[in-house]
Amino acid sequence: MYGHEAPEPVRLWDLDRMELCPASLGPGSQLAKPQLERWKSVHQAIVAWHAEGEPESEAAVADICDRLFSFWDPVQRHMLEDLFTAYRRLHPADSTVDFDAQSGVFVDTDRNLSLSVGVQLEVQTEIGREAVRIKTGRSGTSRVEAAAYYMHDEKSTLVDVMLAHDDRVNVPRPTSEDGQQILSEIFDRHALAIVGQRRVRHPGLHCYSCPRPARCGQYPTIGGDVSYRTRTVRVSKTHLAKLAHCHRSAGWPALYGIPKDESRGDDEDDSHGLRVGSRFHTTIAAALLADDPEPLFDMNSLQSSSSMNEGSGPRSRSPFMSGLSALHGRDS
Ligand code: SF4
Repeated sequence: MYGHEAPEPVRLWDLDRMELCPASLGPGSQLAKPQLERWKSVHQAIVAWHAEGEPESEAAVADICDRLFSFWDPVQRHMLEDLFTAYRRLHPADSTVDFDAQSGVFVDTDRNLSLSVGVQLEVQTEIGREAVRIKTGRSGTSRVEAAAYYMHDEKSTLVDVMLAHDDRVNVPRPTSEDGQQILSEIFDRHALAIVGQRRVRHPGLHCYSCPRPARCGQYPTIGGDVSYRTRTVRVSKTHLAKLAHCHRSAGWPALYGIPKDESRGDDEDDSHGLRVGSRFHTTIAAALLADDPEPLFDMNSLQSSSSMNEGSGPRSRSPFMSGLSALHGRDS
């Protein structure tokens, strides 16, 4: 069908990584993927809900939740039930659903490259066929994915069911010219990115989202190399401040990918946050350069540095100092 060789698939995530750091491609470290695992559980529940033929029955829904979500911790189980409820609200129970939906695969025959867009289910409506993508995160179908899908299938409508937002979004269809332009740029980027040596390392901020940090000596760590056995956790300044109040609250976003609760001000980045950030960098930089970093973690010197930075208010132990102390294994 495509000549002698099957087209090489272009993966958008890999393309981004290839451009940032060729060495980050390859088998990743064995890191937890809570978002992916949650997505799989929700997908299983949706398939069961349609397949078991009692979509209106509350008992059937409760049974599905018990069977598929009971091994999750209570917080994540709650999230899964919310996502499943959102799906049932957004999707008509009596619609006929086809779970053998084919991915949209666009093939560039000149370059022998392909780009595929996964679709979870298809629905036949009065106005035509909908190809549905189930989304449990914040981002929907990108314009590149939309271009690839619509260039492959001109008749269907691509729909994102955004469970976390309780919303259904019809993905805009680019014009044929725009679609071709978008895909041409992606395939050109791919051609440029694969030229050169795949194993060259380009460390930078993107190391923090690299899937294989434990295999790379360039991963920025304080005090020592990372071996292949090392389990690393990225702790942001915000998490550090939270350590003083609740270790779970600090750990959930880092380990389990629990989304921020914006209603509780988790997104705040006020001047206090900035002050904490600058103080953190000053202290860590001094500690890295010092022969003996111990005194820098002394609570008294941290306290006086804090009061100098925070003005003339009453002295109290800030979340930053408590968190830094906890991280360093010292109590006040
Ligand atoms: S940790 Fe950084 S330098 Fe190492 S492979 Fe990943 S992105 Fe590249």
